[in-house]
Amino acid sequence: MHKFGGSSVADAECFRRVAAIVESQPSPRLGIVLSACKGVTDALLNLVTLAERRDEGYLAQLQLLRERHALIAETLLPPAAAAGWLVRFDKDRADLSGILHTVSIMRSAAQNVRDLVAGYGEIWSTSLFAPYLEARRAGGAPVRWFDARACVVVEWDSLGPVVQWEDSRARLQALLADGFRGTLVITGFIASTAQGLQTTLGRNGSDFSASVFGSLLDAAEIHIWTDVDGVLSADPRRVPDAQVIDSLSYNEAMELAYSAPLITDAATEPMELA
Ligand code: ASP
Ligand code: MG
Repeated sequence: MHKFGGSSVADAECFRRVAAIVESQPSPRLGIVLSACKGVTDALLNLVTLAERRDEGYLAQLQLLRERHALIAETLLPPAAAAGWLVRFDKDRADLSGILHTVSIMRSAAQNVRDLVAGYGEIWSTSLFAPYLEARRAGGAPVRWFDARACVVVEWDSLGPVVQWEDSRARLQALLADGFRGTLVITGFIASTAQGLQTTLGRNGSDFSASVFGSLLDAAEIHIWTDVDGVLSADPRRVPDAQVIDSLSYNEAMELAYSAPLITDAATEPMELA
């Protein structure tokens, strides 16, 4: 199981790098969990905030999201596939416009509306990457796009999302033939409730998605790839001479995991630790 976060799938060049990394780790059964392209989840949630304020700027922001993804599609996919991908994107965009229009009338969005909107980024990144990887394989092992919402069932409690393992395993079995060999390109972050509503695993939840799928698919290993050389002594975006920490015990990592979100400012995402 391999997971790549938002900054690892920021643009077409990043997608190429991810494909090359995946190809360097051949295995008859491979799972690849992707986040949304860098900044897209924030941008999607911002659309909801704009709509709540009745700021029609959300339409222009949606257009920017289209341009960004269209550039990746047109750079990486054959022309017909890129055009087909954009037709599907425009259907999502029409749905999103409708949802946001309703939000602007209501002046507020319920949590399930926010969850639904926030999840489009992972659908877009993975549905771009799967056909790209397949084209690079030119008839090799099959690549299958896998929608985590059809499989992972979670219930939220006060501590966060709780995976409903039995239900999730049963769904996986129904979706994936026992002896499946090939590569699954899996949406990180998103999941469903037992009632079938879309939900998420919380901000930065794709690492958790990778672990959930690692367990569901009986993965031998889970690799969380990131774009820094290891765990650093500080966030390298803020502290240019941050050092790579050579070794870290489980307890030290736990301690850092608890304190890191407190020492970054609340408006940006907590430093990634793996
Ligand atoms: N895209 C989601 C977020 O930004 C999940 C993730 O990247 O891990 O929170
Ligand atoms: Mg992340």
